[in-house]
Amino acid sequence: MSVSSLPKRGINKLITIPLKMCCPSQCACKSNQIRTWYHIKCGAPRLLTEQGDVICNCQVEFIQDVIFQCDKAKQSNTWYQHKSMSTIFIAITQSLQAAELVLGNDDLQKFSQNLMTFIVKRWKS
Ligand SMILES: [Zn+2]
Ligand SMILES: [Zn+2]
Repeated sequence: MSVSSLPKRGINKLITIPLKMCCPSQCACKSNQIRTWYHIKCGAPRLLTEQGDVICNCQVEFIQDVIFQCDKAKQSNTWYQHKSMSTIFIAITQSLQAAELVLGNDDLQKFSQNLMTFIVKRWKS
C-alpha cells in the first residue's frame, strides 16, 4: 500500500497516541526530557496513529517525513528529521510509555503491532 492510497477518511477510527518524545542527540538543547510536540502551523498537539502517520488538525504525514523543532532549535532555525528507523522506534517507545496508562493493554498491544508493521511496510529508503 502506498502512502497516497491510504484512506484519508476513517482516520478517527484508528487508535492514536500523543506524540511524546525527546529531542534527538544532535539537537542544540541537549535535553533528554520527553515533551509533547505541537504542530507549529495549527498549534494542535501531534498524534501518532497506528498506521505510522503523525496527525494534527491540518496535516497527515508519515512519521519519516515529519520535521521537528524545539524552542532551542527554533532560535538557530534548525530542524531535524528522524532519518533512520531505529531513531523512530526510540521515539515511538517513548510515546508508548507515556500512553501506557491511558491505553488499555489490548489497545496498546494492537497499536504497537500495527505500527511496527506499517512503518516497515511504508518505509522509504
Ligand atoms: Zn531540542
Ligand atoms: Zn497542524
